[in-house]
Amino acid sequence: MNRSRDVQINEDVDFEALVQNKQLLKGLEQAGYARPSPIQLQAIPLGRLGVDLIAQAKSGTGKTVVFGVISLEAIQTDIKTPQVLMVAPTREIAIQIRDVVRNLAKYTPGVHCEAFIGGIATHTDVKRLKNCQIVVGTPGRLMALLHSNSLNTNDIKLFVMDEADKLMSDVFGQQVQYIHGKLPKKKQTLAFSATFTEELLETFQSLMYEPQIVRLTTDVPELEGKSKHIISTDRKRLKMYKAKFETTAELLSKIPFYQCMVFVNSAPRAVELSKWLTQEGWMSGHISGSLTQVQRISVMEKMREFKLRVLVCSDLIARGIDIDRVNLVINIDYPREADTYMHRVGRTGRFGKF
Ligand code: ADP
Repeated sequence: MNRSRDVQINEDVDFEALVQNKQLLKGLEQAGYARPSPIQLQAIPLGRLGVDLIAQAKSGTGKTVVFGVISLEAIQTDIKTPQVLMVAPTREIAIQIRDVVRNLAKYTPGVHCEAFIGGIATHTDVKRLKNCQIVVGTPGRLMALLHSNSLNTNDIKLFVMDEADKLMSDVFGQQVQYIHGKLPKKKQTLAFSATFTEELLETFQSLMYEPQIVRLTTDVPELEGKSKHIISTDRKRLKMYKAKFETTAELLSKIPFYQCMVFVNSAPRAVELSKWLTQEGWMSGHISGSLTQVQRISVMEKMREFKLRVLVCSDLIARGIDIDRVNLVINIDYPREADTYMHRVGRTGRFGKF
């Protein structure tokens, strides 16, 4: 398969050079990962050394595998208490991380990784925390578990922040600081994101000890191997959405694609467009903050099982979601921030696929 340069390395290195644990190597191999990507090549050895690390690389270049591997190498499977704590900004990303870790750990007996997210009844949490060594969660739920003393942090030796720029912003920022404050002083901290600002790098300094920085994209991030097109719908405001909907349907019939994600700026529009596209013959679903967690999970499953061709989303899940077959992204509205555009467009061409 042709892949873009940002996931290819020149060095003749395979995972055996980076990972010692044979069971983990088997997990990597079975997941279909033959050679490490540049971020994996650089960040895995640093992470395994135990130093604090800030890693920036483009969306879809394999950052989850980096911290999955570092975590699985760090834990002691005979100890049944939480040893790694991973925080992610959305529930879907938390579930995805859990699945990647479980997949990598398929051949390593005794590993328990669980996701703790909002929108799901809390009563199962305490039970699932028993035996769990790798805890993945969204900030609010993790805070609640810490408040109620359900989450024992005594043995946590690794703290991972995924989509760390998002985690440092607004309310999340305070929640993450709170969580961080509850962890043992002596631990390793890793922060991953596709986008970082200089101020953010400074904020991290307070959470980390002399962090190593791996930045594979320092400039304005560009997504390689993707073609981008802008179409303007030149209509008056009231009719504009109708025109945008129609243009979307037209694009879907003109451009060959496996699965497509369409981004809109408002949740009601997401519902409306997904209904309309389904009427037009495109099996579509929508995902936005207006759905319950159970509904969100069910839509994501349908998309993964290829029961939907088109997923209409508000920005809630623009980040981090990995659906292999998405090779067309349509932005109906301009994203409000430039970074959001990168995250949205980063939903396609995962791991350098053209
Ligand atoms: P990021 O966290 O940087 O957005 P992910 O870790 O979600 O990226 O990886 C993106 C996709 O690439 C996933 O589908 C993952 O299975 C795949 N992938 C990751 N590392 C490798 C590798 N070394 N070889 C092949 N595929 C990989």
